[in-house]
Formats: sequence, structure tokens, C-alpha cells
Amino acid sequence: MSGVRRFAPGAAGELGWTGVERLRYKEEGSAPFRDITRQVLFSQPDQQCELRYFEIAPGGFSTLERHRHTHAVLILRGHGSVRLGDAELPVAEHDLVTVDPLTWHQFRADAGCALGFLCLVSKSRDRPQLPTDEEPAPREIR
Ligand code: MN
Repeated sequence: MSGVRRFAPGAAGELGWTGVERLRYKEEGSAPFRDITRQVLFSQPDQQCELRYFEIAPGGFSTLERHRHTHAVLILRGHGSVRLGDAELPVAEHDLVTVDPLTWHQFRADAGCALGFLCLVSKSRDRPQLPTDEEPAPREIR
């Protein structure tokens, strides 16, 4: 898989890596989210980790979730916010966001701007948990 892939606009105008399939973020209806595409940039049998690129359209957001596996997220373009536990923090290009085990998290693109980020995860990982009535996410503090 040696090679160079370019970061360029796709058919729908969103940025991403050419020659890498653009996937749905996750199955529709499985959890609330809006306007996200996903590309798996690096996933090799001899590696324990995967590198993915997510692009959230302006005003879109990822699912509010938590899980045992950790994330390292590098904001590649745009600006928005991340919810981490009960905090809501602004993020912009080149910020590095780390998510500890079982920390509620959600990424959001600002209204006028797409948010693109790289996310490094373990290839073998537990399924995300969603907030429930019994165990709601902490109320966000702005
Ligand atoms: Mn996650």
C-alpha cells in the first residue's frame, strides 16, 4: 500500500483523500448524528491501530458516545467544538484532542464551516455506549 494520496474535494464538494472510499459514518438510525463521512486511511493486518478521517458538514455533529477504547483526534481543517465529559471546548485546525476511556464525547462543526479530523483508534475496540434514561450523559457546561 505504498503510495501518495491527495487531500482534495470529492464529488459532493467535501474534502477527503482521493482514491479512498467515502463511507457512511455509521448505519442510519443506529444513533443520532448528522452530515458526516468517514474514510479509512490506514488499516493493515500487521497493525493494531486504524487511522480514519471524518468530515462533518457545517452544523453537523457526531454521536454523543463513550467506550473503553481511547481516541487521538487531530483536527485537520475547520473549526467547531468537542464535548468531553461535561465540558464543551472549541477546537480548530491542528488541535489535538485525546479521549480517555468511558469519557462522553461528541464533535460538532460550527454553522458556517466544515470540520475535518483524523482519528486514531485500536483496531479491536468495544462498541460505543449511548446515553440512556438510566445512565444519561452529564449535562454540558458551557
Ligand atoms: Mn468515539
